[in-house]
Amino acid sequence: MLNLKKVINASGRMSILGVSTMSDYVLEGIARGGRHYFKMEELVQESGQQVAKYVHTEHALITNSASAAISLAVAGVISKDDRYLVEHLYEDAFLQREILIMKGHQVDYGAPVDVMIHVGGGKPKGIGYANGCSIDQIDQSVSENTAAILFVQSHHCVQKNMPSLQEVSEWARQKNLPLIVDAAAEEDITGYGELADLVIFSGSKAIQGPTSGILAGKTELIKYATLHMKGIGRAMKVGKEAIFGLLHALEQFVTEKTDVSHQLADLDKLKQLNEWSGIKITIEADEAGREIYRGRVHIGAEAPLDASTLVNQLKDGIPAIYTRDYHANEGHFDIDPRPLLPGDMDIIVQKISNLIGGG
Ligand SMILES: *Cc1c(COP(=O)(O)O)cnc(C)c1O
Repeated sequence: MLNLKKVINASGRMSILGVSTMSDYVLEGIARGGRHYFKMEELVQESGQQVAKYVHTEHALITNSASAAISLAVAGVISKDDRYLVEHLYEDAFLQREILIMKGHQVDYGAPVDVMIHVGGGKPKGIGYANGCSIDQIDQSVSENTAAILFVQSHHCVQKNMPSLQEVSEWARQKNLPLIVDAAAEEDITGYGELADLVIFSGSKAIQGPTSGILAGKTELIKYATLHMKGIGRAMKVGKEAIFGLLHALEQFVTEKTDVSHQLADLDKLKQLNEWSGIKITIEADEAGREIYRGRVHIGAEAPLDASTLVNQLKDGIPAIYTRDYHANEGHFDIDPRPLLPGDMDIIVQKISNLIGGG
């Protein structure tokens, strides 16, 4: 067996920790896919139709990651149905490969969005500034070589002084330019079909499926992207087991309303830490308005350690405990109860007590 450290994930859906754990039903889907043969072309078509119903678009394609879906979307809008270009995607003579992207959207989500555009044969053209952009600036950046505009809907992006998705969508409609939306980590999977020509989701983030992705949108654009299965898509091949696992995950995601009661019970346990001087626990609703509650651990001056030292010691411990620590330097960090497994919160409370209370 491998010699790996046990990890408790209290940070959220983090790729560096393996994103999410799968339900028994999702694992059954994976096993079902793995045990049978299929005509793969038929499976790709049928599963795409099924996914489209879940996400409210005309058609869809299951990919091996959201990143692959970005590259395939870009490749598709560039090549359209030109099969020569599918096999010669990077040929210099073909110029119409500019993908507009606001500079505040050129983020690194673990890999840079720009790299995925390049893989798809696109040339990212950054618009506006690092701290803002206007529709006017987008409008002025269109040239005869522009193939599409990519909008990244994410907490990673600059949020202030940026046009909304609605505004960009209206603009793109007027220009008759395809709008691709990367909504990889978003919880609302049905809200993009109206606004975008193509939308991208990660299969393993909100949907909690296996490592996979979704490219959904207009039938014609999905067909163009699908042609690249015989081109760059081969290097991003999605397995039949992932397709079935993702379909099961989607079924669960749309039918089962997330039950937050066990999360709240776990957060109640966290409140035990209030007994130590220098620690205060508050419960925070999600800043993006999703139904997520997190426990915020405030570390005051009376505590023997500051918040940054504490989160690092938790990471270095056995088991390794990862918290949501973006604001540790401001004296607080969050415990996200969603990814916790039974018993994890007890260990977290005990470890923090040991480090802070010496108890
Ligand atoms: C996570 C993420 C991705 C990549 O998703 P993968 O399925 O890991 O490839 C792309 N874009 C954004 C905004 C993300 O948050």
